[in-house]
Amino acid sequence: MSLEEVKARLARAALLLDFDGTLSPIVVRSEEARPVDGAEEVLAGLVERAGSVTIVTGRRSGFIRSVLRVDGLEVIGQFGMEDSPGLHPEVLAEVNAVVGGEQGVRVVDKSASIAVHVRTTPDPDAATTRIAGPLTAIAERYGLDVLPGKRVLELAPKGSSKAAVVAEVVARTGAQAALYAGDDLNDEPAFDALEALAKDGIAICRIAVVGGETPEELIAKADLTVAGPQELLALLRAL
Ligand SMILES: [Mg+2]
Repeated sequence: MSLEEVKARLARAALLLDFDGTLSPIVVRSEEARPVDGAEEVLAGLVERAGSVTIVTGRRSGFIRSVLRVDGLEVIGQFGMEDSPGLHPEVLAEVNAVVGGEQGVRVVDKSASIAVHVRTTPDPDAATTRIAGPLTAIAERYGLDVLPGKRVLELAPKGSSKAAVVAEVVARTGAQAALYAGDDLNDEPAFDALEALAKDGIAICRIAVVGGETPEELIAKADLTVAGPQELLALLRAL
């Protein structure tokens, strides 16, 4: 489980990267997120040298492609559920009814999922506590999961997970090594997926990109930590 093993197998390696907080600094308004300087150049180099390079994100892939223009870069959006049918319209109506009284909450309808952002509320932790129960109840009624993240709760089809995305990419590409870098709670299943792959002899490296809100659980499971997107980029450049 090391970076050196992944490096030695780079031509057969799947490089899997989260976007927000991993390649881009966390921003208050999510549409203003941009990759750190140099990211496009480093990723373009890796597309040439590595087996595959994939962005694994809860966002729509179109947004990532609009801010990260790299030929040959794969982007898998919405936890792999981007092509799923849209959620029942009543789900959005019920979510809006639950959060309607919360100042600063932003509801983003992504068709196959609904993200409820609390970052711009006066007290994000208190807002999360108030809305988590009712949102979970809605999810249960419609057979959905609630995926937690930094200052966001996302209602998505059951089985939506970065773990499933990671397993699919590695199987499809026949990778002999897998590197995953992420910074959030929803990256933890991806770390677990890599651990399962290691049992099949695949070289793995799990990198936690540490920022102010990175959960301890993720750091505890990491093989390596880096202090923010810029430091991750330096590590990737040296592969
Ligand atoms: Mg992230």
